[in-house]
This record gives sequence, C-alpha cells and structure tokens, in this order.
Amino acid sequence: MRALILGLVSVLASACTSMETPVAKPEWTLLIHGGAGVMRRAEMTPELDAAYRAGLNEALEAGAKVLASGGKAVDAVQAAVIVLEDNPNFNAGKGAVLTREGVAELDASIMDGRDRRAGAVAQVRTVKNPVRAARYVMDKTGRVMFAGPDVDDMAKDAGLEIVPPEYFITPRRQEALRRALAGTFVPMDRYGTVGAVAMDRDGNLAAATSTGGLNAKPPGRVGDAPIIGAGTYADNASCAVSATGDGEYFIRASVARMICARVALQDMSAEQAAQATLDEVKALGGTGGVIVLSHDGSVALSMNTEGMFRGRADASGARDVSIYADE
Ligand code: ASP
Repeated sequence: MRALILGLVSVLASACTSMETPVAKPEWTLLIHGGAGVMRRAEMTPELDAAYRAGLNEALEAGAKVLASGGKAVDAVQAAVIVLEDNPNFNAGKGAVLTREGVAELDASIMDGRDRRAGAVAQVRTVKNPVRAARYVMDKTGRVMFAGPDVDDMAKDAGLEIVPPEYFITPRRQEALRRALAGTFVPMDRYGTVGAVAMDRDGNLAAATSTGGLNAKPPGRVGDAPIIGAGTYADNASCAVSATGDGEYFIRASVARMICARVALQDMSAEQAAQATLDEVKALGGTGGVIVLSHDGSVALSMNTEGMFRGRADASGARDVSIYADE
C-alpha cells in the first residue's frame, strides 16, 4: 500500500513538473513540402523513393544553412523553394506539370510574417525560378500580385534568369499529360506543388509556395499557390502556412489564412488548426495537405491524401523527410 501511495505521489509530481515546464521551442525551424500528389506505394520504385528523399534533404539543407547562420526566415523559405523548383521530380519550375496545351504556366508566392508584405506571380512561362519573381514583386514593386506575360517581361528587366519555355518540359510530364488527355487517372500526375515555412532566430515567420498547378489544366487557370491567404500566408502574430492540393477548394476555404485565424483567435495548435481546416476542404470535396509553423513553435505537416512529400529541420539537429501519411 505504501509503495502504491509513493508511486502515485511521484506520478502526480512529474505530471505537475511537465505542466510547468513549457516545451522549449528550437532557435529556428524549417518545414518543407513537395506536394500531396503522392504515388501509390505499389507504384513507387526504390530509385524514385530515394530520389524524392534526396531532393527533400537538399532543400532542407539549403534553407537550414540560411537559418543556422542567423539568416532571415524569408530568405530561408526562398532558398528551399529554389532547390525544389530546380529539381525535375517536383511540380514547380523545371519538371512542372503542363497545361492542356502542353506548356508550363507557373505560379508562386512569398510572404514575410514580420510585416505581412507579400509577393505573388501567376502564369509565368520563362522565369527559371518563379519564387524569385514573387520575391521581386514583394521587395521592389509596392504591389502584391502580377499575372501573365508582363511578369516575364518584368523579371527580364529585373535581371532574373530567363529560360526558353521548353526548359520546364520533361518527358515524364509530357507522358502525364498524354495520360490525362486520354482520361487515365494516376494520383501522382495530378499535383505536386512545393513550399516552405520557417521561423528564424528572431522569431520571424515566412512562407513560400511554387507550382506548375494541376496537370492538363486549361490555359489561364490559376490555383491557390499564388493566392495570399489560400496557398500561402505568414504573420508573426499567428503562423506561416504553405499548402498543396486541389487549388479551387483551397481558394474557396481560404485555407492558409483560416489556419492562422484559428491559431490566433481560437488559440489552436498548428496541428488542430490544420486538421480543422483540412476537414473543411474535405467537406467541400477537396484533397491536399499543408505545412504549418505557429508563432508558439508548434508545427503541423498534415494531409488528407495518401501522403505528402515533406521534411523538417530545426536548430536541435532534428532532420527528417517522409512521404506517406503513416510514416
Ligand atoms: N495547389 C496547386 C494548384 O491547385 C496544385 C498542387 O498543390 O499540386 O494549382
């Protein structure tokens, strides 16, 4: 009996201690995603699996380098997204999915949580790294969003790297387009968007998202990725979000802003806010995922799909990448 009482006392004491000790938030944190259009396990080859994980690790490396050396969250998300845009396996920059007409039309956005400045571009056809164009819009134009051929001209005048439209086209995406036009559905062909959210050593948040949009989309169609508040949002007072999925539903549910509103107004954790908002998307009929980093340091990498290419690194040395929902 005495042993039982002593045991109970020690359990209670440790519960009180853990309640009083707030979970230490790492000095900096970076989350990335490479889209929620994950291949079924049965279709994934070991080589492709390894290539995706290597690509995610490379992006984590690029963003983590910025944050570890005291750099800004906004520079870290940009650095991580550029690596994913340059990797032909992901649906952004080189290797983006194609419109019904067989061209790449790219969308991207970036937001700085310090002052909620934001930049976005849509329907880009020749800027090698659309996220750089979004950053240019945020930093240099006093505007938030530009779309169409004027973005390509503006980027050229700004000295950003310009490539011929064929640069973005890969045989794999041409094959995916052929399948889509023939009515053969493969989940992996549908979407893939890339994104990053970060908190730097000063506690500042930022988010960036870049995409080719949906495979076989009609020319001119714009999804959620460049829409501030839908695919991307960052505010130091609440959270940073980058989304991937059926853009139309993410726009209708104002996903990124809604998650941050739930964090700020309902005091939800990143995970709770992400889940509640993805449930809304699902109720409308949409699928996808989000990465969320809250001002209190809580994080979420949530999806209502079979998986989402994703990764996390922080100042404690934690570094992991995963693909399937149950990993
Ligand atoms: N959300 C993107 C869009 O609708 C697609 C994706 O996430 O893969 O354009």
